Amino acid sequence: MVKVKNVFDHLNRLADIKLAEKWDNVGLMLGNYNDEVNKVLVCLDVTTDVVDEAIKNGINLIVSHHPLIFKPLKSLNFTDDFKSNIIRNLIQNNISVISFHTNLDSASLGLNDFLAKKLKLEEINVLFEHELDHNSGLGRFGKLSKEMDLEEFIKYLKAQFKLETVSAVIGNNKKIHSVAILGGSGADFIYSIPDVDIYLTGDVGYHAALDAIEMKKNIIDIGHFSEHLVKELLQDYIRELNIVVEQSNVEKTPFVIL
Ligand SMILES: [Zn+2]
Repeated sequence: MVKVKNVFDHLNRLADIKLAEKWDNVGLMLGNYNDEVNKVLVCLDVTTDVVDEAIKNGINLIVSHHPLIFKPLKSLNFTDDFKSNIIRNLIQNNISVISFHTNLDSASLGLNDFLAKKLKLEEINVLFEHELDHNSGLGRFGKLSKEMDLEEFIKYLKAQFKLETVSAVIGNNKKIHSVAILGGSGADFIYSIPDVDIYLTGDVGYHAALDAIEMKKNIIDIGHFSEHLVKELLQDYIRELNIVVEQSNVEKTPFVIL
């Protein structure tokens, strides 16, 4: 019999919660460590749709990447507050939630490592080493097995990450050989990344993009939703406990290109 605590401990061996950034909120977000788990749903975000999916599929435990609770809750008002109602639905259906966020980003075999391997990078190194463990930290960089021109690389990237669109900031027209990647929101790091041919991250704003051009750096905004690949990583890993693990299939990027 697998309990919530067993899943938590297993995940913590992959991505120790001590590796989480100070501002983050990770771990058991809601539920009971002693509850039995037969079926797990892995997702990027615990949205209303994901909770409905979990209820419909008889899920006992949701494991998300982004924290269910991030900003402190001041009230649970079920009249019209969506967050309150998400929590109420989870409680009423006895669904526990574990969120592993920046600890999973940084872990040596965590999400950024997984993303770098999806691109088949070689000589993978940590971009920003964690103070507790030099094999862990945010972001990775490495080399492609062969140089590509930008167009070829973008095609390859979209296929490997299952993305329909990306936005590119072109600061130079060198061929692409060395690649840095930081899943999620990594625009703040454009000033401190090592000298690579291209940097991949999400949530790149206007000013960061302008600065990248000034610094002659290439950036591809792969969108924050590119972290949907976390579901593959979590599913394969939690299955080691011999329990049923499903990937959410109701999640999609909130943006539409018109
Ligand atoms: Zn994220």
